[in-house]
Amino acid sequence: MSKSPLSLYDVTLRDGAQTQGVDFSVEDKRTIAAALDTLGIDYVEGGWPGANPGDTEFFSERPQFGHARFAAFGMTKRAGRSLSNDPGFATVLNAPADAVTLVGKSWDFQVEVALEIPLAENLDSIAQSMVAVKEAGREALFDAEHFFDGYAANPGYALDCIKAAHETGASWVVLCDTNGGSMPDYVYRVVSEVKEKLPAIALGIHAHNDTEQAVAVSLAAVRAGARQVQGTLNGLGERCGNANLCTILPTLLLKEPYASQFETGVDLARLKTLTRASRMLDEILNRAPARHAAYVGPSAFAHKGGLHSSAMLKDTRTYEHVPPEAVGNRRKILVSDQAGRSNLLARLADAGIDVDAKDPRLAKLLEDIKQREYLGYTYDGAEASFELLARRALGEVPEYFEVDRFRVIVEKRHNAKGELVTVSEAMVRVRVDGETYYNVDFGSGPVDALSKALRKDLGKYSGFLSDLALTDYKVRILTAGTEAVTRVMVESKDGRGGRFSTVGVSENIVDASFEALVDAIYLKLLHDGAKA
Ligand SMILES: [Zn+2]
Repeated sequence: MSKSPLSLYDVTLRDGAQTQGVDFSVEDKRTIAAALDTLGIDYVEGGWPGANPGDTEFFSERPQFGHARFAAFGMTKRAGRSLSNDPGFATVLNAPADAVTLVGKSWDFQVEVALEIPLAENLDSIAQSMVAVKEAGREALFDAEHFFDGYAANPGYALDCIKAAHETGASWVVLCDTNGGSMPDYVYRVVSEVKEKLPAIALGIHAHNDTEQAVAVSLAAVRAGARQVQGTLNGLGERCGNANLCTILPTLLLKEPYASQFETGVDLARLKTLTRASRMLDEILNRAPARHAAYVGPSAFAHKGGLHSSAMLKDTRTYEHVPPEAVGNRRKILVSDQAGRSNLLARLADAGIDVDAKDPRLAKLLEDIKQREYLGYTYDGAEASFELLARRALGEVPEYFEVDRFRVIVEKRHNAKGELVTVSEAMVRVRVDGETYYNVDFGSGPVDALSKALRKDLGKYSGFLSDLALTDYKVRILTAGTEAVTRVMVESKDGRGGRFSTVGVSENIVDASFEALVDAIYLKLLHDGAKA
């Protein structure tokens, strides 16, 4: 039996960005969009061009995708206005996207109470909007807002709304459980009925998680005939979140009745990048990963000793419903040294480091990593520090320079104009080729001052560092072992646009920052082939 295609649509950059406490930079959005494309998502929605400066800037430069279609989001044309007199609508239409998804009403109550327009006018607005999207040369998608509530109240009208979108060119009609309160059985019944009454419409599902059932609702809709699933990475979204793609994707690919019925842009090979995509989002949000998240959580495959581990030694299937590698996650007990080692080899290959699987130095490196992770380091979001650690273990990193000491002073004082200012001054004493350099510089804060002082004069290496810039800085307090420590992640950029992250851990925030800064410089020198 041949498999049916199932379309995947991501709304992390729109619904996810609505989450309290989430504020993506344009760079963050680019990183997330690229990861979604790599994962094999079919549609990456970039946001609502014109709605806020961040979304507008993100849409000023179209991301280059290998697989995904880039979608802009907007609202159907405003009531009581002609299309030519709706500048917001025009901005969405003119955004450099492949597809335009417009949300519109499908619940009579919303039309009469929120829009205050006759029911027929809303149908007309949906139709005109879809036609305009098609005329602009974009694929048109329709998000039927509050569809399940609307269907309960007035099924005939809810169906008229989606029929209007379909007949005027919508390639997908997405049924939205906007308030997130619908039960899976109800959604199954409604989608089945819609499928029966309007079989020609390609249906999608967009579920919110207000009863912790958005994944179940989405899967119920798929069983009933929906062929597009919308969701977000890690279930990010306003209120209780959206349907979690990190749970839906592996379920679709690894579980029946879905695995043998459907094929998606995410295949089994791409699924192995899922955990990394999930952790990347956490790092961008400066959040610890949700420990118990299904499939991708750090504890999803963690086994405590005793009975479990002895059974696990015989066969991992005794306590694991799927192999952790299938989603790129890791088992947390060492069933055999092989498990840790094969994982390490995979990460080395990722970093472009070629090493024989039998190399005896790998055991030491593995121990080092475990010890450092225990101390609070993480290499999930700090690939550059990982590469440095690995290449050091393999004897590939020269000692470019040595830091003797550093000092930072933060002073609040009055400047010459009598204004109260905070000044940071750093001194770094560093040895290069037997020469000692005393570098002093100022910065907007202690880390900035240290970064400037460290790079001010590194002798023969100074030329390599002129295009190195600090682009992001994140601090997290964590408990490692028994101590509270600070972990700092520093993101740097080189002149070729390469971005890389390094990590430092210490009880002292300045010390942790300094460690990450030194790693960044070392990596830059290494990549540029500087000679020691
Ligand atoms: Zn939504």
